[in-house]
Amino acid sequence: MSQRRIYGIETEYGITCANTGVGEPPLGAEEAAHELFRPVQASSRSTNAFLTNGGRLYLDVGAHPEYATAECDNLPDLLAQDRAGSMMMADLAAQANKRLRQRGISGAIHLFRNNADSRGNSYGCHENYLVRRTPRFRQMVDSLIPYFVTRQVVVGSGYLKLKRRRASYGFSQRADQTWDAISSATTRSRPIVNTRDEPHADADKYRRLHVIVGDTNVSEAATLAKVAVTELLLTLAERGELPRFCLIDPMRAIREVCQDISGTVRCDLDDGRALTAVDIQRHYLDAIAGADLEFTDLHRYSLDLWERGLNAVASQDSSAVDTELDWAVKKKLLDSLSARGFGLDSFEASRLMLAYHDVTSGGIWQRMEQRGMLRRFTTDADVDAARTTAPTTTRAHLRGQFLTLAAKYRRDHTVDWTHIRLNDANHQAIRLDDPFSASDDRVAALLAEIPPTESELPWA
Ligand code: ATP
Ligand code: MG
Ligand code: MG
Repeated sequence: MSQRRIYGIETEYGITCANTGVGEPPLGAEEAAHELFRPVQASSRSTNAFLTNGGRLYLDVGAHPEYATAECDNLPDLLAQDRAGSMMMADLAAQANKRLRQRGISGAIHLFRNNADSRGNSYGCHENYLVRRTPRFRQMVDSLIPYFVTRQVVVGSGYLKLKRRRASYGFSQRADQTWDAISSATTRSRPIVNTRDEPHADADKYRRLHVIVGDTNVSEAATLAKVAVTELLLTLAERGELPRFCLIDPMRAIREVCQDISGTVRCDLDDGRALTAVDIQRHYLDAIAGADLEFTDLHRYSLDLWERGLNAVASQDSSAVDTELDWAVKKKLLDSLSARGFGLDSFEASRLMLAYHDVTSGGIWQRMEQRGMLRRFTTDADVDAARTTAPTTTRAHLRGQFLTLAAKYRRDHTVDWTHIRLNDANHQAIRLDDPFSASDDRVAALLAEIPPTESELPWA
C-alpha cells in the first residue's frame, strides 16, 4: 500500500556573464542576476514572484536565481514543472542578452544547472517532501542519512574537479562542497537535511523534509529516480521499516564516496562494519523490494535504473546507464574527448562539462536529448503547459487559478505557499493549510468575486 505525498524541488542556478568579445566579464554575477530578473521585478514589483503555474521565482541576496516548483503529488507533474523552470530561466536570459546587445554591452548571460562556480561558491537543489508529524522525526531523518550520503553514486551529477592543476572526476559537485562548507558542523544531519520546522501545511499533522544535499540533475531520468526512490524510502521510514544504519562520520563518507569513482571506498558504520556506497544502497533497495508498496510504472523504472546504476559502479562499466545518469553521461563525454587527445585537465574538458549544465543557448543537453544521448520523459507540450498551468491535483491548482484571474483583472494581491489574498478592505487572507486539497469553497467564492460585476464597470 502507498500513500499520496506532496513534493517540490527548488533549484538555484549558477550564473555568469561571459564577454562575447574579448576581455573580462562585462557584468559580475550579482549584476547579471539583477539584469536577468528585470522583467520579474517589473511585473511583480519584487524579485520574489509566485507564478500562475503555482511555482516561485526568486532572487535572494547573493546571485543565484532560484525557481521552486509548485507542490506536486506525482512524478510526471514534477518533471514538467521542474523543466518549465529551466525554460523560463533560459527565456529570461535570452531577453536579458538582447537588452545587453541593445545597450552595446558585449556580454551573454549563461545559467547553469550545477552546484558550484569557479570561485568555489556552492548553491543547491533542495528537495521538499511532506511527511507525517511524529515524535520520531529525528530518528526517521537519521535512518535516512546513510542513504542521502551514498545515493550520489547513482544520482550525483558528476564532478570534474581541478585542484592545483590536478584534475579528477567524481560523483558529485555538491557532496564535495558540502564537506567544505560544514566540516565543523556538530550534528549528524545538519548539512544534509535542513531541520527548520516550516511545514507550509497544517503543523499539527505534517512536517516538510527539506533535503539540501543533492546535486541539481540535468537528466530527467536522474531527477525522476532521485525523487521516486526517496519518496518510497520515506514511506518505509514513516512505518519504521528502514534498515538501521549509522555512519560513524557521514561528512567524511560523503567526501570519500564522491571522490572515488571506482566505488570501492568503504564507510565505517557504528556496528563495526565497513560497507561501500553500493552495498549501503543495495540494503535500501532490498528494503523497498521486500515491502508492501504500490509502484507506478515510473517507480518501477526508477528502481530498475537504481539497480543498473549500482551495477555500473560495482562493475566499472557505465554503458548501461550512460544516457540516464548524469555522472555516466558526462563520463562518456569525457571519455570521447580523451580518445581525441584531450585529458581531464584540458580546457576542452572543462568547457564541455560546463556546456552540459548550461540551460541557455550555449548548452548541449537538449541536442543530446534529440540525438538519443540523454533520455527524456517529458514532452514539449507537457512542459509548455507547465509554464503557465499549475498541477491540478494539489493546492497549487488553487494558487494558480487565483493568480491567473488576479493578473487578468489586475487585482492587487499577495500570495505565499499557504495563503492567498486580494489586497483590499473587503478581503482577508485565505489560509490553505492542506497541500493535498485542490478544491476549496472559500477560494471558489473569492474567484467568483474577482471579475468586475456589471455595476463596477465604467459604463454602469
Ligand atoms: P527558502 O528556500 O527561501 O529558504 P523554502 O525552503 O520555504 O524557503 P521555497 O523556495 O519557498 O523554499 O520552496 C518551497 C518548496 O517546497 C517548493 O518547491 C514547494 O512546492 C514545496 N512545498 C510547499 N509546501 C510543501 C509541503 N507542504 N510539503 C512539501 N513540499 C512543499
Ligand atoms: Mg528556496
Ligand atoms: Mg529551500
